[in-house]
Amino acid sequence: MAWCSYHGGHSGRYCLHAHGNLADVLQAAYARGFSHYGLSEHAPRFRPQDLFPEEQGLRPDQLLEMFYAFVSEARALQLQWQGRMEVLVGMETERLPPESWATAMTDLRSQCQLDYLVGSVHHVNGICIDFAAETTAQLARDLGGPAALQIHYFEAVAELVQVLRPEVVGHLDLIRKFDGPTPQIRPEAWPALQRALQSIEAAGSVIDVNAAPVRRGLGPVYPLPDVLDQARRMGIAVTLGDDSHAPQDVGGGLQACVAAVAAAGYAEIRYLTRVDGKVTWQRCPLAEVKPCPR
Ligand SMILES: [Zn+2]
Ligand SMILES: [Zn+2]
Repeated sequence: MAWCSYHGGHSGRYCLHAHGNLADVLQAAYARGFSHYGLSEHAPRFRPQDLFPEEQGLRPDQLLEMFYAFVSEARALQLQWQGRMEVLVGMETERLPPESWATAMTDLRSQCQLDYLVGSVHHVNGICIDFAAETTAQLARDLGGPAALQIHYFEAVAELVQVLRPEVVGHLDLIRKFDGPTPQIRPEAWPALQRALQSIEAAGSVIDVNAAPVRRGLGPVYPLPDVLDQARRMGIAVTLGDDSHAPQDVGGGLQACVAAVAAAGYAEIRYLTRVDGKVTWQRCPLAEVKPCPR
């Protein structure tokens, strides 16, 4: 039996748009039946102009210190939960700074000896597409329309996956976040999406089936059914992510993720676990993907 999430576990001390304490996130995860829970705090940003709106007033070196503090508390909690629930310590990437994200992310990973990466793209041409509908709409106009925006986004994902080879690919079709209740991948963007899927396959990365849109009332889980269907046809594996930003979010919407995985025809999910000191993917048949009794 496995009940897992590898994308999320954000908490208020280390992420200013999240809430609650890291210890309470893991208490909630245990209470809600998780056997494996991954913490993937946002990578710090290295330039003042890349700070999130709620981080105005902080300096990049302070963000870096916050990230180190996250890793250190997460490692202590990992030990505390050992034997009851497997905690993994990772990071959600950025394509920032625009010119040097690859070395910035790779260096942080090795410096902090992270268990895994969630490879996420939140910026196209340095503009955040995850923050506000109007910002994303303006960027689409600047680039020549919504299809052009999707093409730029999927090309950015393809490159990030090729370069970083993350264990998990976060919210693969995040670019449709503000598309309303009937989001779609534009036909013109499918070749770029296809290239992103090919780089996922080549890197051996696993797709995060992500509960955030369901929990926030923004539509179906990431990625959309036709994307998931195509991933399955290509032999790409999937895992689960609650994308939690507070203890009360933990596990929220995960059943919708499992339903989407089943509807796409998958027979199993993958879960990350440490075997002989090495973090590796294992398989769990879909029928056994459920909360553990506590
Ligand atoms: Zn966040
Ligand atoms: Zn994200």
